[in-house]
Amino acid sequence: MLHIYNTLTRRKEEFQPLTEGKVSIYCCGITPYNYAHIGNARPAVFWDVVRRYLKAIGYKVRYVQNFTDIDDKIIQRAKEENTTAEEIADRYIKIYMDTLEALNIWAADVYPKVSENMDAITEMIKHLVVEGYAYPLEGDVYYSVEKFKDYGKLSGRRLEDMEAGARVEVDDRKYNPMDFALWKAAKPGEPSWDSPWGKGRPGWHIECSALSMKYLGESFDMHGGGSDLIFPHHENEIAQSEAYIGHSDGFARYWLHNGFITIKEEKMSKSLGNVFLVHELLKRYSGEVIRYFILGAQYRSPLDFSDERVAEAQSAYKRLVNAKKTAEDLLENADGSAAGPETAKALLEKAKEAKKAFFEAMDDDFNTALAIGCLFPLIKEFNTYAGDVKSRGVVFDREGFRTAFDIFTEMTSILGILEKEEAGQADDALVEGLMGVLLSIRQDARAEKNWTLSDKIRDELKNIGIAIEDTPQGVNWKKL
Ligand SMILES: [Zn+2]
Repeated sequence: MLHIYNTLTRRKEEFQPLTEGKVSIYCCGITPYNYAHIGNARPAVFWDVVRRYLKAIGYKVRYVQNFTDIDDKIIQRAKEENTTAEEIADRYIKIYMDTLEALNIWAADVYPKVSENMDAITEMIKHLVVEGYAYPLEGDVYYSVEKFKDYGKLSGRRLEDMEAGARVEVDDRKYNPMDFALWKAAKPGEPSWDSPWGKGRPGWHIECSALSMKYLGESFDMHGGGSDLIFPHHENEIAQSEAYIGHSDGFARYWLHNGFITIKEEKMSKSLGNVFLVHELLKRYSGEVIRYFILGAQYRSPLDFSDERVAEAQSAYKRLVNAKKTAEDLLENADGSAAGPETAKALLEKAKEAKKAFFEAMDDDFNTALAIGCLFPLIKEFNTYAGDVKSRGVVFDREGFRTAFDIFTEMTSILGILEKEEAGQADDALVEGLMGVLLSIRQDARAEKNWTLSDKIRDELKNIGIAIEDTPQGVNWKKL
């Protein structure tokens, strides 16, 4: 039975779907103004595993993840690059989608963009104004937190305490310093849309209330995001949505929040200069290794990132890859199938035990860290059994072994690993080393004006799908 820690109730609860056999999920997406960093990859990988697991235990899943494609950061970036906000958002959405693919993440059912859903957003704001939860103010519209009696229920904060410690800029026009913008009046040179309050654009929080309800209905099962979103973003989403639907028995039922990424136990932040971008990491590690690393911590725990930690994950991951190869090799090449089920009996027992422990771990608030641990005793058995067949004359029980291997694959598919063969097998450090050797030979050849050799190296690399590029800073290479 699946149990989930619900931020709203602050305890683990047995999961009960709204509709038998179905699960609807909304997860806050990215603001596309830059490359995705490891902190963006974590929720993406986690929610992918949640979906895979729910499917494995028999649910049909609908998953919606938005793109905040209207935002100060996008507008700022567009100004810096002398282009439009739309162009910036499109560019980084595309890059993000490529990153998701590299991380072996299933596509969402819908990726709604704010810019394409302005009607749903303005409708919701209109309704909140009519119901007295929001008030227009010189082209802006604010949400009145005092009108919503449950304000603070998700984050466990009290409005009085928030006001006392309010760090929000003092704006005397607002009823309460914690009131937040649902609509912002247009500023010159910024993208804007028509509304009953004049031209403008939506505030950040309203989009997730409007988009989740538009695509999943007034009530849905799970809402996700990073723990940094609990306050104010998700608190405000609840305030908007429950006020909109008119009762507190709706909107998201289970709130799941993933923990921070730390870098060598320090918080990751731009100001500390320790932000790791996923597309950079993908040059050094396969998507599945990054995935495996992320899943090595239960989602609510902090995840400490460092090169050493990822390298450790990589070597553990390779053991899984090798075991898979050993098993496949055995299935393909070993003789014997008539030995009966007895010979692989112990192995099969181990596989069933591993599966039981794996599902128990996943049922306990998606504890992927424990679930991954269930794979290793099993691969040890695979290797022992393969040794017995190959060297000690044990007759191969094909059927028994295949059943055990299928159980293993069932678990790895839920984790979304060992699916891209080349990704699992790529020895990236070795490739990096070999490229270093080749490029230094080519540099020597160029220094000696041996153009024939230097061109040959470049052309032959191109033939195997590697481009090299001479730049003032040195030679770069990339896979074509
Ligand atoms: Zn959101």
